[in-house]
Amino acid sequence: MRLIDGNVARKRLVLVCLVASAGFLPAGAVGKEAGACTPGTELRLSAPESSQGSLLLIELKSALQLTEVKGDWGGRKVAFWQESGKEGIQRGLVGVDLEKAPGEYELKVTGQTASGEKIVCRAMVEVKKGQFATEKLQVGKQFVEPNPEQIKRANEELQKLREIFDRVTPERLWDGPFRIPLEGVTTGSNFGKRRILNGNPGSPHGGMDLPGTTGTPVHAAQRGRVALAEELFFSGNTVVVDHGLGIYTFYGHLSEIDVKVGDAVETGALLGKVGATGRVTGPHLHWGLTVERARVNPLVLVRLLSSTASEENRRKSSKHGTN
Ligand SMILES: [Zn+2]
Repeated sequence: MRLIDGNVARKRLVLVCLVASAGFLPAGAVGKEAGACTPGTELRLSAPESSQGSLLLIELKSALQLTEVKGDWGGRKVAFWQESGKEGIQRGLVGVDLEKAPGEYELKVTGQTASGEKIVCRAMVEVKKGQFATEKLQVGKQFVEPNPEQIKRANEELQKLREIFDRVTPERLWDGPFRIPLEGVTTGSNFGKRRILNGNPGSPHGGMDLPGTTGTPVHAAQRGRVALAEELFFSGNTVVVDHGLGIYTFYGHLSEIDVKVGDAVETGALLGKVGATGRVTGPHLHWGLTVERARVNPLVLVRLLSSTASEENRRKSSKHGTN
């Protein structure tokens, strides 16, 4: 767009909300067999296709214990982990960036057995266009027409965020489902919304806006380590939590920050308070999720991992369970 420097515009992508696109993934849905695998192994996807701003959960099942399990989806890495007590099953998350071009992308998963035998699985995963609304906004002129100093600052902050999201902590710091960071809030809005700012088309909202009044406590969505805790031009007082394996959650517009970089946080830990700092029209929490740099809808992760957990509980408590 004309009035906003390209980098600044891109930075907004990182900062703003993600779209809850049409269908959420089916509950407890790791079950659809997909792709071609080395005999003795099996690849399952939570859904055969996905849409912009969504996530897929992948399971690699093998009769033999596998190591060095890695994935690649259209040039993007997929990190795998093993849940405790689930030998023979490796899981990974594929994040579909909210602006990823629709089409088919090959997923390739590799690993090796204890005896050094290589295994490989391949599947095609289709990306569909997300259903994102368009929003018209009037904001302070200083945000639409940042002065050179503000542009410089915003670009430096964008660079800093990129460097954070590029770092993939090799350990999984989270354990179990992710939660919504505000007590009593079950959904949000504006994910991926296309924006027209003061009449000029802007970039999509890279996160989800959760309703909350100033001073409402903001809780960590899962266990992790604080990767950023400072005031930024667009998102105001901001906290970023590294959950490991390339997963980061982002909390913006806080009135107050209660953690510092390097802090280890547990699920539900107090990160700060809801506010209206930065580029906003009123108090709310801007909540973002990136998976291997893909901006995805955080609610999809909440639903996907909790439905998997409840599926596992069902299997455990069922006499007819297959586990
Ligand atoms: Zn937002």
